Amino acid sequence: MNRRKAIRNLGLAVPGSLMLPSLLACKDESDPTPQIPFDGKVIVIGAGVAGLYAASLLDQRGVNVEILEASTVHGGRIRAAASFADFPIELGADFVQGDNSVWYQLIQNKGFSFASGSADEVWMIDDLAKNLSEISDDSDVGLVQDFVGNLANFNGTDRSVAQAITDDGIGDRVAHILNGKVGNRYGSDNDKLGILGIAQELALSEVGQDRFTVVGKDHLAILESEFFSILSKIQYEAQITSIDYSGDLVQLSDAGGNNYEADMVIIAVPISVLKDEDINFAPALPTDMRIGISTFSMDPGFKVALRFNRNFWGDNVRSVFADGIVPEYVSVGLGRSERNKVLMANINGSSATGLLGMEDADIVSMLLADLDRIFGNEIATTNIFDSLVMNWSNEPFIRGAYSYAPVGAADNRALIAQSVSDKLFFAGEATNLKGNSGTVNGALESAERVVEEIVNVLVPE
Ligand SMILES: Cc1cc2nc3c(=O)[nH]c(=O)nc-3n(C[C@H](O)[C@H](O)[C@H](O)COP(=O)(O)OP(=O)(O)OC[C@H]3O[C@@H](n4cnc5c(N)ncnc54)[C@H](O)[C@@H]3O)c2cc1C
Repeated sequence: MNRRKAIRNLGLAVPGSLMLPSLLACKDESDPTPQIPFDGKVIVIGAGVAGLYAASLLDQRGVNVEILEASTVHGGRIRAAASFADFPIELGADFVQGDNSVWYQLIQNKGFSFASGSADEVWMIDDLAKNLSEISDDSDVGLVQDFVGNLANFNGTDRSVAQAITDDGIGDRVAHILNGKVGNRYGSDNDKLGILGIAQELALSEVGQDRFTVVGKDHLAILESEFFSILSKIQYEAQITSIDYSGDLVQLSDAGGNNYEADMVIIAVPISVLKDEDINFAPALPTDMRIGISTFSMDPGFKVALRFNRNFWGDNVRSVFADGIVPEYVSVGLGRSERNKVLMANINGSSATGLLGMEDADIVSMLLADLDRIFGNEIATTNIFDSLVMNWSNEPFIRGAYSYAPVGAADNRALIAQSVSDKLFFAGEATNLKGNSGTVNGALESAERVVEEIVNVLVPE
């Protein structure tokens, strides 16, 4: 086994910890666990899941790492409301994508379980709330299910998902259901989202498309336990505003006027931060990279948790696909709450844009009126117990939900995932090249990629 392979394998030796599945194949059990022969320093910008994992992998290899985080907290788009209900409520990422994913395996290795069992859905069709199990022979229902099931097979000229729906002859009666199942879940709307980007990612991804929810533990607590040893290396309230990589060492400065120096820098900030040019790069990033960054979008995203005195949407219902301001309400307690009385409104794209600037109380009133209309008898307004509004646009260093490829951007992720001058390495969900952007697992995989890139620089063949 050559030296570089041996060093990469170190990640596999961490007991009870994350593994680099892509490197499993070349593991040699007889090898000692080699450290990277490097006495320099790597700075990681951003203490979201990508930054924490990249820092942790390097730290395990004996590299001197520091994490610079703009906000006062770690976890980024992972955040929990631990005491809102009788189970942890996720205000950011909740579903674990695919049982063949790094994130799923990490959670499983830690001994936590996933909610199991089949579930029904409620669809608003013809102004009526109908259980999917009761309308399965409706031809429009079949069209919706076929459209979602065939997304990975699309290979025509890129167009909006909305256009592709029209092209397939699917009418307005169920178009809003598809906006809940596709546009909103991908962080936007069907009329902005490019279908080719989704198709290519679905075809590329190997993690599996089933979605799982964790029982009894919130994602942040799981992250903190996994990355416990690296948390002390986070410098909070360090919003990086400039990176000069013209010299031997990379010079960084933050908004507070503090300066930092490193041999290499991993940039693991949201795409919104790069698009808005919060960070001034000197020299400027390569032109194709800047073009790539500009082509991706990240729309506003809200989660509104509504806790009721009773469950009126159905004990076995997972999602309500609606036709108003909220594309999808998720019964997040299903399989993990004894009471199962919380609906989470997942609102992205133009629906979320419409809520910007509103008071939380007004948003909650609007949603309760929406649910009253769907389920009748003022059932939501008379049964509301508590509510919580999470507006990700208000987070100053995140500013939205997650990245998506609008029409024409399908092939551009590789542009934003390139390393620059062997000194700058770009991680984060938007840079995922394995078909898993917009997810926690995608962020984790991007961390593995940048660590491999750094090993390739430090330990040439
Ligand atoms: C509402 C919502 C629902 C979601 N649902 C799911 C889901 O169900 N399943 C799923 O898998 N994923 C979901 N996601 C996506 C998932 O949360 C993200 O893909 C993932 O957490 C991104 O991790 P990251 O490390 O790439 O970025 P982030 O978590 O955004 O971390 C980036 C960090 O960089 C910091 N930063 C920004 N600018 C600077 C700067 N200049 N200097 C220093 N630090 C800076 C930020 O403060 C932040 O801590 C959801 C996200 C949202 C918002």
